[in-house]
Amino acid sequence: MERDTKVKAALRARGLQAESFNASLLFEPWTIRNQSGQPFRVFTPFWRTCLAKPTPPPWKDAPPRLLPVSDWPGSLKIADLQLEPVVDWAAGFREVWQPGEAGAGRQLDRFLEEALSAYPSDRDRPGISGTSRLSPHLHFGELGPAQVWRAVQSSMRGRVAAAEAYLRQLGWREFAHHLLYHFPNTPQAPLRSEFANFPWKSKAEPFKAWTTGRTGYPLVDAGMRELWRTGWMHNRVRMVAASFLVKHLLISWQEGAAWFWDTLVDADLANNTLGWQWVAGCGADAAPYFRIFNPVMQAAKFDPDEAYVRQWVKDRVAPIVDHDEARHRALAALAAMAKS
Ligand SMILES: Cc1cc2nc3c(=O)[nH]c(=O)nc-3n(C[C@H](O)[C@H](O)[C@H](O)COP(=O)(O)OP(=O)(O)OC[C@H]3O[C@@H](n4cnc5c(N)ncnc54)[C@H](O)[C@@H]3O)c2cc1C
Repeated sequence: MERDTKVKAALRARGLQAESFNASLLFEPWTIRNQSGQPFRVFTPFWRTCLAKPTPPPWKDAPPRLLPVSDWPGSLKIADLQLEPVVDWAAGFREVWQPGEAGAGRQLDRFLEEALSAYPSDRDRPGISGTSRLSPHLHFGELGPAQVWRAVQSSMRGRVAAAEAYLRQLGWREFAHHLLYHFPNTPQAPLRSEFANFPWKSKAEPFKAWTTGRTGYPLVDAGMRELWRTGWMHNRVRMVAASFLVKHLLISWQEGAAWFWDTLVDADLANNTLGWQWVAGCGADAAPYFRIFNPVMQAAKFDPDEAYVRQWVKDRVAPIVDHDEARHRALAALAAMAKS
């Protein structure tokens, strides 16, 4: 917003007309308020309020023709800027993603044809391609949420519940942006301020084991390896891997969020902050800290045939922490925070 305001001011200062229009969200964050005029902190009433508004917002087709610039200013070629890394660490990304509008459109079509109907049951199964994988495309604006909204609405017949479940996820994206707008310090500080006193333990070795997928918990390790290779991780696995860091290893959510920020192809300040604060129990409508995922049970439930784990983990290592001990340690840390 600051950037756009500066651009508009600079253009207007030169006597040009400059307007901006919302395309990255369904609803501008300041237009959604609760009955007392305050921002929402709980998702369900937030989304109910959104759904009561006309959706999607007014839509304009792309102009049929844009006049080209008659006199181009001197410039460099993009390659001259040498933006690409010298070590091609992102090679795996190219196998999975097709950046740009065409790739985004194809991904949406694939999802509507092949996966939307089974979304409510398959969306939690990392071994199945059951979600839309639109997150990087949405982040970079290669397609907008209103476009997705309309496409889903128009193919809803016979699968209303599945479509609504999917649109609800777009609602979480809206909620994340709502929170970031109203509470702009949340990327650094917990929304629930008592968590500022949580006794985190910053430790290099377990953090390294987590980032490299060598914790000895196959679901966590599969997720961290998928992330490194493809820049993406399934939502269920993000929750389990993030929870492992903040609860089993007692490493702060900010350190985990920073790693995700560096490695995710869909890294998004609003969604990443919401995700980490949700997992760490310190955000809006968050999972309580005392509810601690058991990564073994999560794997048995959501990856019962180990299709996902087998894809990513070829060499298993011994667990770096014992689940029960880690659980007790985490609960003791929570109690220590409550006393402080
Ligand atoms: C710790 C953690 C960190 C996360 N970091 C990010 C991030 O940096 N960028 C990001 O886009 N998402 C993030 N998420 C949310 C979620 O995991 C991804 O949006 C989702 O996995 C993307 O896959 P998809 O497009 O196939 O999702 P689908 O299930 O197909 O959902 C469709 C779209 O809805 C939105 N969405 C879905 N789930 C969520 C959610 N929980 N919160 C906000 N928006 C959601 C995304 O834009 C997604 O593309 C994070 C979640 C956790 C638990």
